[in-house]
Amino acid sequence: METDILIAGCGCSGLYCALHLPSDCQVTVITKADEESNDSFLAQGGMCMLTGEEDYDAYFEDTLAAGHYENDRASVEIMIRSSQDVVEDLVSWGVDFQRDEQGQLMYTREGAHSKSRIVFHEDITGKEITSHLLMEAKKRPNITILEYTTLLDIICSDGICYGAVIRRADGTLEKVAADNVVLATGGVGGVYFHSTNFRHLTGDAIAMALRHNVALKDITYVQIHPTTLYVKEKETRSFLISESMRGEGAKLYDKNGNRFVDELLPRDVLTQKIQEQMQKDGTDYVWEDLRQIPSEELDSHFPNIIEHCRQMGYDVYNECIPVVPAQHYFMGGIRVDHESRTSMPHLYAVGETACNGVHGKNRLASNSLLESLVFAKRAAQDMAKESGRRDAKAQQAALAQVSLDDYRDGNRLEEEYRVAVQKVLGVH
Ligand SMILES: Cc1cc2nc3c(=O)[nH]c(=O)nc-3n(C[C@H](O)[C@H](O)[C@H](O)COP(=O)(O)OP(=O)(O)OC[C@H]3O[C@@H](n4cnc5c(N)ncnc54)[C@H](O)[C@@H]3O)c2cc1C
Repeated sequence: METDILIAGCGCSGLYCALHLPSDCQVTVITKADEESNDSFLAQGGMCMLTGEEDYDAYFEDTLAAGHYENDRASVEIMIRSSQDVVEDLVSWGVDFQRDEQGQLMYTREGAHSKSRIVFHEDITGKEITSHLLMEAKKRPNITILEYTTLLDIICSDGICYGAVIRRADGTLEKVAADNVVLATGGVGGVYFHSTNFRHLTGDAIAMALRHNVALKDITYVQIHPTTLYVKEKETRSFLISESMRGEGAKLYDKNGNRFVDELLPRDVLTQKIQEQMQKDGTDYVWEDLRQIPSEELDSHFPNIIEHCRQMGYDVYNECIPVVPAQHYFMGGIRVDHESRTSMPHLYAVGETACNGVHGKNRLASNSLLESLVFAKRAAQDMAKESGRRDAKAQQAALAQVSLDDYRDGNRLEEEYRVAVQKVLGVH
């Protein structure tokens, strides 16, 4: 197969990148699962934006403080400065963010934010955003989405990327010649036992980067979310109790029902405090009291979380729920510059699998959807600047060197990738 741009991943970063490529550019988006099974659909709390010039310094400082000042400051500036454009884009495609009676955007707050600056749609903001991106992508004749189609490897020669090896839904292996390949394969939660991520997100692009000496960055920086619902029988993935519930007033209690912590501490610090408390109490969880949120707010802002808790046997209007930390987000990843270029020419990385340093050591809540979108658009704009097609001879030679036989044993490859990712992340 031949395509101008091959994008692996159809979460918000892959789709937003596709949507910003020129209409005369043939774009193929592949996804390992169905088109809605990605973490972008799971995002609950919302997406940060610059609410006005007066908030710039505070937003910048909050992002840096959460990231332990290890953030790439230029990336942070680009992200914040681009946020209003992103919201405008999304609204133009029909995304419905919560508004007040005057029609003005409403903002919620999460931990480590000094003020409310998060746009949201109930407690399913990611679904609202990503489903509209998907609808928009389907309208575009130049974009093709292939479900259950897996990126198995990139094809490169002399340190330049020329395409990829993929496995189609029917199991057929294929080489794809592409002018550029974009890795938008999301996080790494699938290699952890407890994670809020989809299980099939196993950091495949990280394994491919390791294989081909593509530079990585901040590779051990993994965020553990302080509050996921504790259930005796493990769910396939841990269910997140959104941080914006704590932003709106929910409290945390020890085994005796006493508050033991400031609920709005940055995620890494709060996680540590919860783990210490669980150890002290000899319990597998602490309690979260959602009754502290006015019930009208609970109903209008968090209907899906309440319903999930009900299905798991908890009536949040009358009792506390047990919560426990779980793996949630990957700050590190494939090293990219401000245009999302990796260290390998013609290979880009966007979204959670990429690392432009914006989050530093710890992500500020609700910065990831924004970061994914901002830098996916920049990747598209950078690719659009390229003139003419690639050296066809060199591309053919690179593809000819690859034998599909090396990819027939899918289980072996999957295991090899899993072990490589676990090793580099330090997961035991
Ligand atoms: C429960 C939860 C709640 C969250 N809440 C928020 C929030 O409120 N605000 C916020 O800003 N962020 C939030 N996040 C984080 C945010 O959702 C993610 O960081 C972001 O959506 C990542 O987008 P992405 O496009 O990089 O990856 P994803 O949306 O995860 O997409 C990854 C895609 O890659 C595909 N893929 C993976 N491997 C392969 C392969 N080998 N071949 C082909 N395709 C492959 C997958 O099938 C999928 O389509 C939350 C995350 C979770 C899990």
